[in-house]
Amino acid sequence: MILILFIFGLAFGSFSNVIIYRVPRNISIIKPNSFCTKCNREIKWIHKIPIISWIVLKGKCSYCQSKISYLYPLNEFLVSLIFIINGLSLGLNENINIGNNLISLSIFSLLIYIIAIIDIQNLIIPNRVIVLGICFAFLNSISISILNNDYYYLLNRLFSGIVGFLSLEIIIFIIFLITSKYAFGSGDSKFYGLVGFWLGFNNLFAVFVLSIYLGGIFSLVGILLNKLNRKDKIPFAPFISLSAYFVALFGSENIWNLFSRLYISS
Ligand SMILES: [Zn+2]
Repeated sequence: MILILFIFGLAFGSFSNVIIYRVPRNISIIKPNSFCTKCNREIKWIHKIPIISWIVLKGKCSYCQSKISYLYPLNEFLVSLIFIINGLSLGLNENINIGNNLISLSIFSLLIYIIAIIDIQNLIIPNRVIVLGICFAFLNSISISILNNDYYYLLNRLFSGIVGFLSLEIIIFIIFLITSKYAFGSGDSKFYGLVGFWLGFNNLFAVFVLSIYLGGIFSLVGILLNKLNRKDKIPFAPFISLSAYFVALFGSENIWNLFSRLYISS
């Protein structure tokens, strides 16, 4: 089971490399075939085996010998790791339907991983990835609704998608009125919308609180250690992704329990 998840993870990790590199640069995902970003020559299929090819080629292009970033095999490895964690955590969280379904959980975790990495590298969340994510969320919610004969599920997802988007837009607007600055990018509100579509209302609320909490701690520590300037732009998607992943694995109730243990009992 773990080996199968590892191999699937490598394949999808390799595919995520294509999306992470091409989408922010507006290159089609399907055409052309993988090419070296320095000499533009097409990469042979034998040199496209995840992780192994990079090690065999010692991280260099087989034509022009220019360096190939270690981030490619690292991505492949991390996606494999996420897929294995998904498999091991299956059924851990019975309150959330995608936590019981390996395919849904894998698609969702891959999506939020890709969005986080693109935001770290480019400080944007591309609309193309959001739209793709919403299509998958729709398919997922519709199939769960039909299988369980529970159309409230679909309605809840649609509603929380809209709430997720609008809540941050309203917060951005209020902060703008006070400081005349944009505190978040518009991609962040779309991302909350996407998370709402996938996880539903209760979980969305937990993701919202947890991500602002994590982002706040990160910024505070960064400023205290003089690594960050108050005016620095930091990508916020990684905090949304991390929180959404925790909530998808453990459920919103466990997140609230953790908060109350941290602050109320002490
Ligand atoms: Zn090359």
